[in-house]
Amino acid sequence: MKITVLSGGVGGARFTRGLLALVGTEHQVTVIANTGDDMWLHGVRVCPDLDTLMYTLGGAVHEEQGWGRRGETRRVSDELAGYDLGWDWFTLGDLDLATHLARTELLRDGLPLSQVTARLAARWRPGVTLLPMTDDEVETHVLLDDGREIHFEEWWVRHRATLPARGFVQTNIATATPAPGVLSALSDADVVVVPPSNPVVSVGTILAIPGVRDALTSTDAPVVGVSPVVGGAPVRGMADACLTAIGVETTALAVAQHYGRRADGGILDAWLVDEVDAPAAAVLRGVGWASRAVPALMTDVPTAARIAADALSLVDRRP
Ligand code: GDP
Ligand code: CA
Repeated sequence: MKITVLSGGVGGARFTRGLLALVGTEHQVTVIANTGDDMWLHGVRVCPDLDTLMYTLGGAVHEEQGWGRRGETRRVSDELAGYDLGWDWFTLGDLDLATHLARTELLRDGLPLSQVTARLAARWRPGVTLLPMTDDEVETHVLLDDGREIHFEEWWVRHRATLPARGFVQTNIATATPAPGVLSALSDADVVVVPPSNPVVSVGTILAIPGVRDALTSTDAPVVGVSPVVGGAPVRGMADACLTAIGVETTALAVAQHYGRRADGGILDAWLVDEVDAPAAAVLRGVGWASRAVPALMTDVPTAARIAADALSLVDRRP
């Protein structure tokens, strides 16, 4: 079976780790990662979601934090702060910095990000084909109510998503093209999964790459999503601030309606919600969706594997 996942960072990585525990190595998993959070910082290219996926699937992630390396130190970051350069609120861990240095060297040698990612992933053996959504430099910026436009990471990390925002834009989006393998991973898949990732700035950004939405609406594979919103709040992080900024309520039902059902011009066939959101599943079933309520908190790998199994069975796919 060919399974393709559209992923942001922590939510998508934890789901995919469970999916791999479920399906093992005889199935082919491709992860298309959001790169809208990427940035140049201190002269190196930082790709937060690709790295979270690589470290999580490669067994090196800082488990409690959800991102970054286990056993990390921050001596370089502390020294850089002494020069008052860059972003003092964004830590580049010492181990993490080696990843960014390696990536930057390969990019400077002329390799596209997709090939650089494959090179870096060869070390971590994530068990999936890891693809950036695009080789182009596309960055998510936040449009603030006061008229300013800032990088998503500045809004998210420095301001904890508290500055009132009225939307998001992606730089260079009109001319961006999907990375090699992205469109075929959608058209040739046996099932496509939208994991519990941020619907606005993770999955929404991947969908904004010209050609991706069409590939999803036209693929023969069923497309199943797992709600990142449980009981009216995101499970981790501040995805509610992103949803509010684009005028979508923070509920499992509203996020499903925001993605839309493929039969009505949207991108999904099925939507898995947490057991506390059983009424949302009932409403969706009433209007033609496949939907089910199950315990959807990824407390450990076996739980994430069970959620992955529930998602696949909702569209009649069994590993
Ligand atoms: P980011 O790039 O690190 O912000 O990560 P993602 O975009 O992949 O995922 C963030 C989303 O994952 C948030 O909206 C969370 O609500 C969701 N999430 C995190 N842990 C869980 C979980 O255990 N269960 C569910 N259903 N969603 C989760
Ligand atoms: Ca992210």
